[in-house]
Amino acid sequence: MDIADSSIELWIRCLGNESLLQPMWDSLRFNYRDYLRSPLFPIVLTVSSYFVLCLPFLVCDIIGDKWAWVQQFKIQPSRRPTASTLLHCAGVTLYNHVFLVLPASVAQWLWRPPVDLPDQAPSLLELIAGVIGNLLLFDFQYFIWHLLHHRILWLYVTFHAIHHNYSSPFALATQCLGGWELVTVGFWTTLNPVILRCHLLTTWTFMMLHVYVSIEDHCGYNFPWSTSRLIPFGLYGGPSKHDVHHQKPNTNFAPHFSHWDKIFGTHADFSFISVVKYKS
Ligand SMILES: [Zn+2]
Ligand SMILES: [Zn+2]
Repeated sequence: MDIADSSIELWIRCLGNESLLQPMWDSLRFNYRDYLRSPLFPIVLTVSSYFVLCLPFLVCDIIGDKWAWVQQFKIQPSRRPTASTLLHCAGVTLYNHVFLVLPASVAQWLWRPPVDLPDQAPSLLELIAGVIGNLLLFDFQYFIWHLLHHRILWLYVTFHAIHHNYSSPFALATQCLGGWELVTVGFWTTLNPVILRCHLLTTWTFMMLHVYVSIEDHCGYNFPWSTSRLIPFGLYGGPSKHDVHHQKPNTNFAPHFSHWDKIFGTHADFSFISVVKYKS
């Protein structure tokens, strides 16, 4: 058996190993039981993940033009958010959190009982399959929602236009959303793991990854570790694809993967936009 065969066999054994995540799960539930059982925990997790994960991109937005290595990955190198733009988005985000997320959190805390923590951890394979399943389901829901909000003028003007104030997105624009859009996204992110009957560890992993890929979609940089570069065959859109949506809003409605836009004929590559821009 050569090295490639033995490493594949090792991977398969790790993926199916029922007890690989058990020590971590046991440590979490024994040490942080009350926090993890609280209905507030998923909200605290996603809100804190959002601000922490925005920070590195925010630094790039503020000092990236003086940092040649970072600047080479900027999707629209001549466009950079101004201080007032960043403050506006921070203000909208703060408003949404105070008037929507906070009341929803209090309601959850008052009305939902603490959740039960299962004894058994998921296998790594269950966790990865659950996270991918949740991303695919959300991608489909948001594709339909997004398409309708661009095709029906009233929906666009009333709910979605605020997110299109910026044709060159940046990390803080991710949650520069109308309340209806934020509520819808939060609803699906909470409901989908229940529909797919995911383990809590899978649910929390999905929620954090979903926050990251949503920020990455808007970050304005196509770094070497960008998801679209890591996932082969153009299956995943990533920051370049969503950047095109902000430049050419009748294309690229799916937030993560590429297949729905390709099926419905709404897919556009970044190279196409660049050619159009340089010609005009
Ligand atoms: Zn966007
Ligand atoms: Zn849009």
